Amino acid sequence: MTTSYANILKPLHLGFTTIKNRVVMGSMHTGLEDRFYNYPKLAAYFGERAKGGVGLIITGGISPNRQGWLLPAGGTMNHLGDVAPHRLVTHAVHKHGAKILMQILHSGRYGYQPFVVSASPIKSPISPFKPRQMSEKQILDTIDDYAHTATIAKKAGYDGVEIMGSEGYLLNQFLSRHVNQRDDRWGGDILNRMRFAVEIVRAIRAKVGEKFIICFRLSMLDLVHDGNTMQEVITVAQALEKAGVTLLNTGIGWHEARIPTIVTSVPRAAFADYTAEVKKHVAIPVIASNRINMPETAEAILAAGKADMIQMARPLLADAFWVNKTATNRVDEINTCIACNQACLDHTFKNKRATCLVNPRAAYETELVYLKTKNPKKIAVIGGGVAGMSAATVAASRGHKVTLFEAATDVGGQFNLAKVVPGKEEFHETIRYFKVQIEKTGVELRLNTKVNREQLEREGFDEVIVATGVVPRALKIDGSDAPQVLSYAEVLRGAPVGHKVAVIGAGGIGFDVSEFLLRPEHQSQPQPLEDWQREWGIDPNPNYISEGGIQPAEVDPPVREIYLLQRKTTPLGMGLGKTTGWVHRAQLKKHAVKMLRGVQYKSINNEGLWIETNGYDQLLRVDTIVVCAGQESVKDIMPNEGEHTLANYHIIGGAKLAAELDAKRAIREGAELAAKL
Ligand code: NAP
Ligand code: SF4
Repeated sequence: MTTSYANILKPLHLGFTTIKNRVVMGSMHTGLEDRFYNYPKLAAYFGERAKGGVGLIITGGISPNRQGWLLPAGGTMNHLGDVAPHRLVTHAVHKHGAKILMQILHSGRYGYQPFVVSASPIKSPISPFKPRQMSEKQILDTIDDYAHTATIAKKAGYDGVEIMGSEGYLLNQFLSRHVNQRDDRWGGDILNRMRFAVEIVRAIRAKVGEKFIICFRLSMLDLVHDGNTMQEVITVAQALEKAGVTLLNTGIGWHEARIPTIVTSVPRAAFADYTAEVKKHVAIPVIASNRINMPETAEAILAAGKADMIQMARPLLADAFWVNKTATNRVDEINTCIACNQACLDHTFKNKRATCLVNPRAAYETELVYLKTKNPKKIAVIGGGVAGMSAATVAASRGHKVTLFEAATDVGGQFNLAKVVPGKEEFHETIRYFKVQIEKTGVELRLNTKVNREQLEREGFDEVIVATGVVPRALKIDGSDAPQVLSYAEVLRGAPVGHKVAVIGAGGIGFDVSEFLLRPEHQSQPQPLEDWQREWGIDPNPNYISEGGIQPAEVDPPVREIYLLQRKTTPLGMGLGKTTGWVHRAQLKKHAVKMLRGVQYKSINNEGLWIETNGYDQLLRVDTIVVCAGQESVKDIMPNEGEHTLANYHIIGGAKLAAELDAKRAIREGAELAAKL
């Protein structure tokens, strides 16, 4: 094979079946699994990924019974009536030569419903429902339910099942002292704590026979106190292998862990060495997971023998054709997952359908369709931020003749600012992706061009898409024109900033700017793995003896003294993403950022910033004031209502609505408009 990704593309022989390459699409709950009438959409979603070359797909979690529901009336498989909708999914995947496993997930005390059960009656910090302790009979019935679900999955055409035993769900709750405080045969030492998981595997294997994949997702690093040690993880792995598991998948961290495991700031492949440690002690293939999003990273893990397969969930939402692009040396065309969670996990936790910020077609394959146009038009797109690039490239891919005008020296817009924020380095991949798409789809790119209406009309465009974006909102108080007052854009572009800083506005950008200002100058980007582990208190030894793999965090003294301010009286950071906001809040707290709310900004002078809080005036003695007070739309090129124009004008992204400036909306609006023109 001539490709440099030979390890990724090598088939994996399991004796009774072969997986065509080493890429696993990991389980990701889209919300489509929960309702039978959404299965045609689910089939299209998985079918597209199978067509895109992935070897093995694992579905979102399906419960074996009512107690296991993640949400009320969540997806369950326990009677034969469940076979028909699932057949749509398995057929769509098999058509393209991929294999598919159905994940069986019992949420235990993580269920957001009143029937929750667990090893012991201890409430989780992330759920309002206190679980009931499972009785011996309930445990035995649940083992039967798992086996029954697996037999129905087999009837529905699945190549196997994955048993979810990590991320703090029911089986993980039994495996670890963190929740399991029983003193019967299901609790106590690790041999007892793993009995439930092992018996489930045995029961399934007895029902489904030898020629059916059983994958077990094992928590290789709990990252919670009283979690397992690596020796205990290995003991479980070996017992599962003996009980009949075919593949061992990696889970990292419980959902309640206060250490990030998947967000952008987690270094790529941060956890591969823990998987490698387990692999040394079992003979079955082992799958590595978490923050693996590009072929170089995946190939390096496989080439080093750290794992036999690579699991990616979000990266395959971002690009269904990840494998085919890798196989044909078109890695630069991959739409990279930037680990933002904004459209996938944040949606799941809000009970909304998961999709992808950089790929709005994910889970909308039957609804957002890019058909070749029969009526090619001349289209101008004004503004090369993500909204404009999305519109331009989708329109051009459909056969329109597109010109993209950008006033700056390069495309990327606000993403050029985001990519310099520590932990957001992945954002440069989105700019790279769109640049390659601009070239491949034949968009004519005119940089350094501030186009006006007359020129557009003269050139005879049929459609004009205004994606001119935003400018930072200026602060309007006494002294706000002083040289020590900077916009966030100036700061992120490298303007000098003093040692004591007031950041005005605590939205996403106020937090980002604070993190940017806290980065020590010597720290390379992205943050080296050892530094990141030290800061978050993760035991770097893959053969860790610390319980749960956690140890005291070590944080360097802050490089600046920062005040982060807002007018609202609510706690700061409430508007940040559900699955990422806590990481940003923790990061600023660790670096002693002083967060003030209910602030009124009074004036600025050479001494600093005068504010009023609780009726008292106060001087913050700062050298620099950075304004992160939101944005205002730039739309001066839009015609006024009723004004005669030769072209049809459309407005998208921040230019349309600055108040909710959001890359997810910008990219989706660009794509949706371009799909219709
Ligand atoms: P934002 O979230 O709207 O925050 C702007 C902040 O400025 C608000 O906290 C507001 O708080 C304050 N503000 C508004 N008008 C002001 C005024 N006239 N004077 C003083 N303060 C004022 O906007 P952003 O931080 O610029 O972020 C823009 C968008 O980027 C967000 O909507 C978000 O979707 C996205 N983003 C997200 C992340 C993330 O982590 N997910 C990171 C960066 C950006 P008060 O009114 O309480 O003072
Ligand atoms: Fe990745 Fe963000 Fe898309 Fe989720 S929304 S798949 S994290 S790029």
